[in-house]
Amino acid sequence: RAKDSGRGTWRLFDRTMDRHLEDRRGLQRDIKRALRDGQLFVEYQPVIALATRRIVGLEALVRWDHPERGIISPGDFIDIAERVGLVGAVTAYVLAESVSFAATLPPGIAIAVNLSPLHLRDAWLVDQLSAIIEAGGIGAGRIEFEVTESAVLETEGRTLDNLHRLRALGCRIAIDDFGTGYSSLATLRRFPFDRLKIDRSFISNLERSDSDAPIVKAMIDLGQTLGLRVTAEGVETEHHAAILAIYQCDDCQGFLFSPPVRREQIVELFATGHTVTGMAVACDRR
Ligand code: C2E
Ligand code: MG
Ligand code: MG
Ligand code: MG
Repeated sequence: RAKDSGRGTWRLFDRTMDRHLEDRRGLQRDIKRALRDGQLFVEYQPVIALATRRIVGLEALVRWDHPERGIISPGDFIDIAERVGLVGAVTAYVLAESVSFAATLPPGIAIAVNLSPLHLRDAWLVDQLSAIIEAGGIGAGRIEFEVTESAVLETEGRTLDNLHRLRALGCRIAIDDFGTGYSSLATLRRFPFDRLKIDRSFISNLERSDSDAPIVKAMIDLGQTLGLRVTAEGVETEHHAAILAIYQCDDCQGFLFSPPVRREQIVELFATGHTVTGMAVACDRR
């Protein structure tokens, strides 16, 4: 009996796996069409300086408006794009959108674009990205590239070389989801980072008494000691913001201020000084 139910479980599991694999194969076929037919779009999440509640930047986050499946989040298709060799094309699209939007925004506002670890090893990366920035006619300083901690662990020469070359162009570099990987302190020093972004998993339990608060404080101090600007991700409550302000964290991002939103809502934010959650923030209008 136990054996039977065991096999039954396996069969159920197998079928779920099959469906999952089928789904992914479907997505692989569709992603080329998505790029061609303009099904991808970008949302932007404001980055806010904690001390002044001034908007200092935006992060570009890609989404896929799939004709049958609705909106698909990047976590569900970026790795597929990587596997079929299309992540460079996705990034090129997101960067081109971001560059054209940045050109309409006050010069102090930079837009952050996420880079995939796979793409980061590409020999053509810098030529491809710099051409897009140049074509948009904005200064390279308006673009920041985010790379995850796991990406930089692949300390293959090319990754490091590409990051140095992007920085030499004038772009800024951020280490994303910090605290979730295994980068050593030496990595932090060896790579040309301008910003450290603390992963949101550390922020979400700041309210609990046995929380990660001391770790968060240590990460802020570490980043700032190394001369980096520090951003906290996933700031959802005033309580989070208050603790981070006490620790003198530089910037924050999260649902408290605004989820990622469409371009029009960011334009609205600059016109009114109010985020979609109704939060008042200071912004340079010119
Ligand atoms: P990320 O770069 O760490 O982006 C932050 C993620 O946290 C976003 O999820 C954002 O919507 C979410 N988030 C922001 N504030 C809050 C909050 O207060 N609470 C909670 N619970 N979540 C919050 P999203 O848009 O689903 O993106 C997931 C990941 O996909 C990103 O993580 C990034 O690694 C990747 N990604 C997004 N766009 C791109 C892209 O254009 N290229 C590449 N290569 N990766 C991308
Ligand atoms: Mg990011
Ligand atoms: Mg992140
Ligand atoms: Mg994250």
